[in-house]
Amino acid sequence: MSTIDSLPPLRDVIETHELLARKSLGQNFLLDLNLTAKIARQAGDLSECDVLEIGPGPGGLTRGLLAEGARRVLAIEKDPRCMPALAEIAEAYPGQLELINGDALEVNPLSHLTPPIRVAANLPYNVGTELLVRWLTPKEWPPYWQSLTLMFQREVAERIIAQPGSKAYGRLALLAQWRADARIVMSLPPEAFSPPPKVHSAVVHLTALEKPRFEADAKTLSRVVAAAFNQRRKMLRAALKGQAPDIEDRLLAAGIKPTERAEQVSLEEFCALAREIKKT
Ligand code: SAM
Repeated sequence: MSTIDSLPPLRDVIETHELLARKSLGQNFLLDLNLTAKIARQAGDLSECDVLEIGPGPGGLTRGLLAEGARRVLAIEKDPRCMPALAEIAEAYPGQLELINGDALEVNPLSHLTPPIRVAANLPYNVGTELLVRWLTPKEWPPYWQSLTLMFQREVAERIIAQPGSKAYGRLALLAQWRADARIVMSLPPEAFSPPPKVHSAVVHLTALEKPRFEADAKTLSRVVAAAFNQRRKMLRAALKGQAPDIEDRLLAAGIKPTERAEQVSLEEFCALAREIKKT
């Protein structure tokens, strides 16, 4: 029995179900249930929420979410070997855990969820970033989720919360901070995982804002930011040449020096520039 529920400790679960971690699936499991419960608490009050969990693996975070009182959890896991272990959790929490064996990049979870919805996940780096970008760029805002509580390698977490003037500042920071509040809420050393990854990790909590922090057309903003950071060493008047024939005037109208580099430009200024460029 574990400290947070009546199920066996995760080490026993992994042994019983022979869940040897697979590198190809980015499997680094959390084994300390007190730690997974602590991560679950970062997601806020879950008692009135459905939680979408991606990549539950042997179920450490899933058990944390349920023990912390989540109303319901929908867990999507790609590895079929994990399903029997997850089914045991579903049995211990009748009617509260729904499981889907599939690829989170392909499954649409919406028909399985009832609002309000929060998202929690400890995912491999590439899948996590891809899903984060998708969650941040829905067709309509506000999105279906209230908050995202996601584990990333620390370097990616720092890119999400980065401010102008720092090396980490770029597209991900602007995308995340335009329509969400983003904070690093926990840092984890490699030894927190089994097997330990090469890098440190961090949990980022993002809360969706009701509306964007500054007005801008999403597509124009995304295009301008991409062009500016694709050549981040160049002055903006050169990097953004293709965006408008009179780009220098538009930069000035947005209150940005044409000789500035992307790294120095704030979110508010990028939004002003997107509005100027959209005027064409
Ligand atoms: N949540 C568990 C934990 O914290 O111990 C497992 C974390 S492990 C880093 C990532 C999990 O995501 C693995 O169980 C892996 O099989 C799963 N996974 C990898 N790619 C996935 C995908 N595209 N869709 C759903 N699950 C995926």
